[in-house]
Amino acid sequence: MTFSELIATWDTFPPDQPVADRDKYIELAVRCIKAGRREGISFAKVGERMGHTPAWAWQRLSYGNSRPGKQIRRDVLGRDRHQCALGEEIDNLHLHHIKSSRNHSAGNLLTVCPRHHKYLHKLKRDDQSSYKKIVALALNGEQIVNLRAAMR
Ligand SMILES: [Zn+2]
Repeated sequence: MTFSELIATWDTFPPDQPVADRDKYIELAVRCIKAGRREGISFAKVGERMGHTPAWAWQRLSYGNSRPGKQIRRDVLGRDRHQCALGEEIDNLHLHHIKSSRNHSAGNLLTVCPRHHKYLHKLKRDDQSSYKKIVALALNGEQIVNLRAAMR
């Protein structure tokens, strides 16, 4: 992505946002470009890999950090015994945001494997009541072995 293409991307941001915010966004984008140069890949690739898309930067400007900090991650993983809350997986664990994606407190986070992370987002969208049930059980420290049974 060229510099002028980047500028064009910024120009698609809502015009009613303060100029100071746009300046901060540009700073973030430039940092992405520099990181990309070091690794010899394009801004778009870096953006994709790190989740540093324009939307990400915009959200970060508006709401603060987009991810839980290291300490909270350690706390939540410890609480959940370093295992997916919906299965037995112990590798490549994610933290699922139960309600708001901006709230990084332990009560809003749940340890899950990538597959169940996807599943939870789908369930949250398609079946709110089952989602709430499952999340409540998991936060209660119950190991869910049969999802279908747990939802009943
Ligand atoms: Zn899992």
